[in-house]
Amino acid sequence: MNMDMIIVGSLALDTIEAPAGRVENAVGGSATYASLAASYFTTPGLVGVVGSDFPEEQKQAFRKNGIDLSGLQIVEGKTFRWGGRYSPQLDQRETLFTELNVFESFSPELPEAYQNSKYVLLANIQPDLQHQVLDQITGEPFVVVDTMNLWINTALESLKRLLRRTHLLIVNDEEAQMLTGEMSHGAAARKLQHMGPKLVVIKKGQHGALLFGSKGEVFSAPALVFSRVTDPTGAGDAFAGGMLGYLANEQSTDFATLRRAVVWGSVMSSFAIQKFSATGLLQLKQSALDNRYHEFKSISIF
Ligand code: AMP
Repeated sequence: MNMDMIIVGSLALDTIEAPAGRVENAVGGSATYASLAASYFTTPGLVGVVGSDFPEEQKQAFRKNGIDLSGLQIVEGKTFRWGGRYSPQLDQRETLFTELNVFESFSPELPEAYQNSKYVLLANIQPDLQHQVLDQITGEPFVVVDTMNLWINTALESLKRLLRRTHLLIVNDEEAQMLTGEMSHGAAARKLQHMGPKLVVIKKGQHGALLFGSKGEVFSAPALVFSRVTDPTGAGDAFAGGMLGYLANEQSTDFATLRRAVVWGSVMSSFAIQKFSATGLLQLKQSALDNRYHEFKSISIF
């Protein structure tokens, strides 16, 4: 079966410290969050690497959620590990450690069934690896890119080349400012569009997200007002996975569909932040997803 949507990114064992508590070696990584979020809309193919210590139950959880693992390399050694600590208000995050482990020698290899996929999510990972995935694609997919401040600081040239191959860039407001030097979201989006992607999403954390279209259109999606967030880790990855999963299922990228996709992305990130690590994205019922979508609608309709 040909894979309609593929996702490359990190699979990790995370240690997270937040006001709500601490977890050690919990399953995380950009591709984990993104593929779980996308799995509620389509059957995503996961491209990545884990070590022999990656929990078997998690592989089963991926399969149970309908995620294809034929692009997942399982190699001798330790899985990528990352540690982060949140400030008391959850508005800042400090990276405590990054251990590349099996990532150090990772070279993504797309199974044949992945090579003509129509929707490609290059979730947060070293930009050269994101290029390597695109180099193996034969068709002309819709390419979505997510990144992080680390790559803007250390791999800017590769990232800029990647932007020229990107249809939709998803960044947070800090990344948008770092890439363009612009404080205003509108000015930053326009500059980003000149760098390659015709479509840009700027995420504003608890203030929602802005979508900028190729003809000057703008859509503003709200965020839900939560009184308690447990763990913001992976919110951006869940957003990207949910957004592209929805587009892949709709087989459309027109602006009306993109607007709904931004809300579905927001729905998925709202589930991700309610529990530690990726557990908030496991085994969600369709009725819970639909109710959440309607909550988003009802807080902003007038
Ligand atoms: P986010 O909260 O969207 O920034 O995503 C957090 C996830 O990114 C965590 O689960 C980490 O394992 C993963 N992560 C952290 N640093 C990196 C990195 N340098 N490359 C790839 N993934 C990373």
